[in-house]
Amino acid sequence: MAQLIDGSAIAAKVRAEVRAGVDALQSSKGFVPGLAVVRVGEDPASRIYVNGKKKAAAEVGFQSWELHPDADITQDALVALVRQLNEDPRVHGILVQLPLPKHLDADAILAAVAPEKDVDGFHPLNAGSLMLGRPGPRACTPLGVMRLLAEVGCDPAGKKAVVVGRSNIVGKPQALLLLQRDATVTLCHSKSDLAREVPLADILVVAVGVPELIRGEWIKPGAVVIDVGMNRRADGKLVGDVAFASASERASFITPVPGGVGPMTIAMLMRNTLDAALRSGK
Ligand code: NDP
Repeated sequence: MAQLIDGSAIAAKVRAEVRAGVDALQSSKGFVPGLAVVRVGEDPASRIYVNGKKKAAAEVGFQSWELHPDADITQDALVALVRQLNEDPRVHGILVQLPLPKHLDADAILAAVAPEKDVDGFHPLNAGSLMLGRPGPRACTPLGVMRLLAEVGCDPAGKKAVVVGRSNIVGKPQALLLLQRDATVTLCHSKSDLAREVPLADILVVAVGVPELIRGEWIKPGAVVIDVGMNRRADGKLVGDVAFASASERASFITPVPGGVGPMTIAMLMRNTLDAALRSGK
């Protein structure tokens, strides 16, 4: 039977580390990190995510601001708002909460964020740095997954890692981070033969958005299974992309949903913001 990976407890540990870093920065340099979150319009899920981020920012001792323009803001006005934050020396990290309303060009907005303040790691320059193996902020969810693996003593070097889902925010950066740590990586998507690929995985990371897509019988005995998926069922229950009960019978370690990857994403955002403040030095 698999051991549960307690993402809530590990995220609390990361936040405590960040808090210690903030205290040290304040006593040595006299400032604390500042995080600005831009939430456009009234997407209900975005409101919940942003509240979680504000709460975590307060807990670790950041200054934080929520900017909340109306859903009908123009592209030019939103770019201007982002540029204003780029220029503000109190702001070390900028996060534009996705999704944006349909009339806005999200790629152009993300590219307007100063790369050194891009604590989501979504700016093309930072995505490119990851590709090239150069330093820079990394996307929070895949970074959180790497920390979960480290916490359970799973060194990716030499292991076969299968990532299911190739989004720019989870799957692709996840595959690159695992490659950087010397795993042999297969990146799967909607045209892949999952029944063939998944059973090869020593490390399986799934970020698809289809409830219980990954069947328990596909899991290699002893595999470490990380389920990024968050799907709301008709009965209101939150489930992952992996059939949890049957997968637990074969995996060595598995993340629950909720309480696995979710809390790590916010904790790593705090880490990235502290790092941005340390790099800026002011
Ligand atoms: P996207 O919708 O951007 O990407 C989904 C990926 O899954 C695509 O690459 C798609 O393939 C692939 N896919 C879809 N159907 C299948 C299938 N049947 N078999 C194999 N692959 C398939 O999703 P995100 O990466 O943004 O999010 C994925 C999940 O993770 C969602 O449930 C989301 O809520 C959750 N999430 C959780 C976070 C957290 O903090 N816990 C953070 C971010 C996301 P193709 O490219 O071929 O279309």
